[in-house]
Amino acid sequence: MHAWAVVANGEPLQEITLPTPEPHGAQVLLEVLHCGVCHSDVHLWDGHYQLGGEKKLLLKDRGVSLPLVMGHEIVGRVVRTGPQARGVAVGELKIVYPWVGCGTCALCRSDQDNMCQTPRSIGVFQAGGYASHVIVPEPRHLVDVGTLSPPVAATLACSGLTAYGAVKKALPLPADEPIVIIGLGGLGLNAIAILRALGHERIVGVDLKAENRAAALAAGATDTVDATAANLAEAIVAAAGQGVGVVIDFVNSSATAKAAFDALRRGGKLIAVGFFGGELSLPLPLLPLRALTLVGSYVGSPIELRELVALAQSGKLPPIPLTTAPQSDATSVLARLRDGRIIGRVVLDAPGVPHATPVAAGGA
Ligand SMILES: [Zn+2]
Ligand SMILES: [Zn+2]
Repeated sequence: MHAWAVVANGEPLQEITLPTPEPHGAQVLLEVLHCGVCHSDVHLWDGHYQLGGEKKLLLKDRGVSLPLVMGHEIVGRVVRTGPQARGVAVGELKIVYPWVGCGTCALCRSDQDNMCQTPRSIGVFQAGGYASHVIVPEPRHLVDVGTLSPPVAATLACSGLTAYGAVKKALPLPADEPIVIIGLGGLGLNAIAILRALGHERIVGVDLKAENRAAALAAGATDTVDATAANLAEAIVAAAGQGVGVVIDFVNSSATAKAAFDALRRGGKLIAVGFFGGELSLPLPLLPLRALTLVGSYVGSPIELRELVALAQSGKLPPIPLTTAPQSDATSVLARLRDGRIIGRVVLDAPGVPHATPVAAGGA
């Protein structure tokens, strides 16, 4: 098999040849057709996350080693199955659940792999989708593409699932109670679309950019707030008409988290998703006095991916705008993503996949 790998942090990906893995046990081997390029791939490529101030989280300290074949938004075709792989047949088109864990702990066995203490995420800790083939631990990590457009379906595995996992922590909430979404890039717009598809009515979007706020209104937000407001917490409360029950922060910087925390009503919840970097200093008595919840949300579980795919299959979820590029363009796509020059999602087509023109919308 061939792959495009990070051989040195920040350097152009190199095309390498690896032995094509033979599926053992319940493993499944897929031929990669499409793989989305995620902003977290830029961090993996660079080798670190910013933690605030001068502090960095080095990915090599988390067990990420080079050469690394990135890519965790994968749609592929099953080409071989291990002897214990049940319920999956050669030729089927599948979305890969990439956030796999050890496979043996209680969390993994109850389909909460993303909470496993020893993650083995595909495209992070083991070879991912910037390649001709990918191996998946078990059939339960695969979801049928069904009637979805395959490149759009690929983006559900991270971009869609991260938004869905955060939205699930926001609900249940009365449909007319405002949910505030900070950061109206791809994830924020996904979250708005998912909330609308699930029947939520009142959504306040917050962003620095006027065009992002306009996109949020088009996606179903009912109000927007300019994040450059002198007092952002007050501006959010004014737009919501009350203290806020739930804020989902897809930016998660020192400034947005502080504003979100200050905007919460009694019993409110701040759901932190973004990796912008920064720190939050909290007056601790307010947590019990105002019965607040501060929760992090990391991608989603295999159960949530199945729920999200079913929601997309129902036709209630408009597909996100995306463009496609050949896999050999991975380095230039990553560089443009790092520079903020990409609108929407880019999905890489594997060699041999007829390279389509930009995909404007999904559905079959
Ligand atoms: Zn991702
Ligand atoms: Zn585990």
